[in-house]
Amino acid sequence: MAENSPQRVIPLIDQRARAPSAGALTFGALTPATGLLTDRRGRALRDLRISVTDRCNFRCSYCMPKDVFTKDYPYLPHSALLTFEEITRIAGQFAAHGVQKIRLTGGEPLLRKNIEILIAQLAALHTPEGRTLDLTLTTNGSLLKRKAAALKAAGLNRLTVSLDGLDDAVFRAMNDVNFPVQDVLDGIAAAQAAGLGPIKVNMVVKRGTNDHQILPMARHFRGTGIVLRFIEYMDVGATNGWRMNDVLPSAEVIALLQQELPLIPLEAAQPGETAQRWGYADGRGGHDAVAGEIGVISSVTQAFCSDCNRARLSTEGQLYLCLFASQGHNLRDLVRGEQSDAELASAIAHIWGERSDRYSELRGSEAAAPPGDGKRRVEMSYIGG
Ligand code: SAM
Ligand code: SF4
Ligand code: SF4
Repeated sequence: MAENSPQRVIPLIDQRARAPSAGALTFGALTPATGLLTDRRGRALRDLRISVTDRCNFRCSYCMPKDVFTKDYPYLPHSALLTFEEITRIAGQFAAHGVQKIRLTGGEPLLRKNIEILIAQLAALHTPEGRTLDLTLTTNGSLLKRKAAALKAAGLNRLTVSLDGLDDAVFRAMNDVNFPVQDVLDGIAAAQAAGLGPIKVNMVVKRGTNDHQILPMARHFRGTGIVLRFIEYMDVGATNGWRMNDVLPSAEVIALLQQELPLIPLEAAQPGETAQRWGYADGRGGHDAVAGEIGVISSVTQAFCSDCNRARLSTEGQLYLCLFASQGHNLRDLVRGEQSDAELASAIAHIWGERSDRYSELRGSEAAAPPGDGKRRVEMSYIGG
């Protein structure tokens, strides 16, 4: 750092999207981390999602359609990826700013070589109050049977497994690589045996594709201690051909379940929680804790932007403030440059402080167009879910 220069200005540019400057950061007066960072809408930064690879062994049509994500797709070269040390350094600054939860994602995070080393490094981080972070990971489950015990030993607290149905033919068609459902179920069992819990299972519901799997999935996971969550199919990225007609609103999911498995609404466990919780009812209309609960994530029909406390770090170190953003802020150049931790913390503070995103609230309106002349939105497999 050139300490003698009066003011140091570093442009933050999403080079991948060839975006214009997303702003310029001035390091003249540093903004220190205080454990509480709020954006322009008063939303605190609490949750960091880190994508560790943009590659995946599945080709779910709603995320990485096969005709787009071919072998010729320009995946990131290894040199572009943040190293584990770079990720941990950035995550440490987020923790200083009040992040309490880190989720590793991708692409398929278990494809990243030696991911357990990164988990161990992140597990050693602390909040300003001295607590360890809530460390979790979202996976398609394909490699879980092999890796569950090592993930637990490295310090992973919790796990989310994506599974879109129990019918083998439906699941094979949705992952589009003919991957069998039983291998994912075996992975979930291995994770339970390793003591990774509580486990959540995410099911993206596409009308006419897997909505007939809602009840079989609920019956299967009821009473297992696993929380099944139904996710509305979202218009993320620019390649999945999303249509509103394909979205099955969560209200319809709940109505369908209620016909056979009575549910009662539960309080949110934490502020900013994405899922609305529903508990299986007992005979007296109370919550049957043994039967457990389900969740619905209604990103399309019931936006939760007003509580959104999440930032997303891409595989190559671009910081995104919204799942639907078209440009990020380049933190990799800061960690690969001469910037100090204080400067990195200050940059994060400036970026979050300027945040005003609320795409899901604006969806469908003129104002929802991505900033910067309708640039292409970032893909889910690049930024993580
Ligand atoms: N590969 C891992 C997996 O599938 O769990 C982690 C990355 S994946 C992008 C994270 C989550 O995003 C998954 O639960 C997936 O189902 C969800 N997802 C991907 N595309 C989606 C879409 N268009 N709408 C809703 N959820 C989506
Ligand atoms: Fe891969 Fe997950 Fe996307 Fe499916 S949802 S293609 S498993 S990254
Ligand atoms: Fe957060 Fe953006 Fe999703 Fe709204 S649309 S909840 S701001 S990620």
